[in-house]
Amino acid sequence: MAGFYINQHVLNNLFYILVTVFAFSFLYDHSRAAQRRPFYGRALLGVCLALAAVLCMKFPIYIDPICVHDFRQIPFLLGTLYGGGGLGAVLFVVLMLARTILYGFQPLTFIVYAIMFAITAAVSPLFRKLPRTSKLMMSLGLTFLLAVVVTFVAILIADFPVTKPYIVYFILLPPFVTMFAVYVMETLLEAQCARAELIKMEKMEIVSQIAASISHEIRNPLTVVKGFIQLLQTGRLPRETEERYIRIALEELERAETIIRDYLTFAKPAPKEMEPIDVAAQLQKVLQMITPMARMHSIDVFSSLEHGVVIGNVQYFQQCFLNLLKNSIEAMPNGGTLRVAVQNRETSIVITISDNGIGMTKEQVRRFGEPYFSTKEKGTGLGAMVAVKIIEQMGGTWEIESAVQKGTTLTITLPASRVQPPTAGRSAAG
Ligand code: ADP
Ligand code: MG
Repeated sequence: MAGFYINQHVLNNLFYILVTVFAFSFLYDHSRAAQRRPFYGRALLGVCLALAAVLCMKFPIYIDPICVHDFRQIPFLLGTLYGGGGLGAVLFVVLMLARTILYGFQPLTFIVYAIMFAITAAVSPLFRKLPRTSKLMMSLGLTFLLAVVVTFVAILIADFPVTKPYIVYFILLPPFVTMFAVYVMETLLEAQCARAELIKMEKMEIVSQIAASISHEIRNPLTVVKGFIQLLQTGRLPRETEERYIRIALEELERAETIIRDYLTFAKPAPKEMEPIDVAAQLQKVLQMITPMARMHSIDVFSSLEHGVVIGNVQYFQQCFLNLLKNSIEAMPNGGTLRVAVQNRETSIVITISDNGIGMTKEQVRRFGEPYFSTKEKGTGLGAMVAVKIIEQMGGTWEIESAVQKGTTLTITLPASRVQPPTAGRSAAG
């Protein structure tokens, strides 16, 4: 029985609806404007569904003297449910115009769709707030109820003959098609949301990883300090014990300070803006900052900095190179030479940092950038991780060449930008 009713024309109508729903989803996915401005999103939905409705009308399921039978009400209901009364009104006008142009004006059609429009527009705000399963149920029920209501209206005012095919194609089948279309729509929108969320998370990753590592790392020394202060509070300790506890507490506080320095020398709570960075100028600033430390260890610093611009966050950029340069200096406890070079290769900016310090084993090179990997007694193992994350965030790559007791060369390649950075000098603290 069903096989008899589900013919080529029905499948064609179904095809128009599904194709336009997919088309909407793909276009929406690729259009930033549609994602940012709800109006554009709705307009896109409107165009797609209007096309579906017109195609359904143009190639209907069947035509009898009074009525053209097709699934046009389904895109119309979808549009009104998802887009609200405004979009519904536009689709209503398109529907009426198309109907008039294709088959002539029919007052009954006008009344039928006006009723559908009014009721659907009224429930649309509720619909959009519902969870997925309720949306499916509601679209099923609404399509069915509307069909029944308008059929009674049609019988009342025009003595409309209700035939078997009419019951199947207008009352029984459409609720399921609408529900299926809502299901497809929800699945596609959900996938879209999940992707957007993922992209946002990737962007936030560095910020949240830093935050997570800090709170984790700082809690330990603070817990120790708290414990010793509580012990001191009892006040019944021998003098040397007191002094020992105070020394430990101070050491732990120093450790917390070091951790903060590895991460947040410059960072304001959430510096997220990306901007053009004058590589040479910013590296020069970092070099100035490390100069006292280099002198202390009798390290000679040479730099050759070509002009180049990359896109990133200035504070992160400084933090990144401060961490890397500090590691180089720490690798040369008995003095040495630190070389920093910037080469502008048109499409990329290549920054090399080389030292002739203690170097790294293959295993150490492999673990470079791994959180908490440190070979130093008081190391945090966070500096390189932060630096690597920042390089990756800027779309860059890095490479290490190292030989034990010979030294290490770090090559960082960042995509070059043509945008000019602001000329006004920024302070190290941004
Ligand atoms: P930390 O400096 O606190 O140890 P980092 O994450 O900055 O932590 O560095 C991780 C490890 O990588 C260091 O402990 C060191 O073993 C190694 N390393 C980093 N840079 C160099 C370098 N220039 N020369 C030798 N070893 C290095
Ligand atoms: Mg370090």
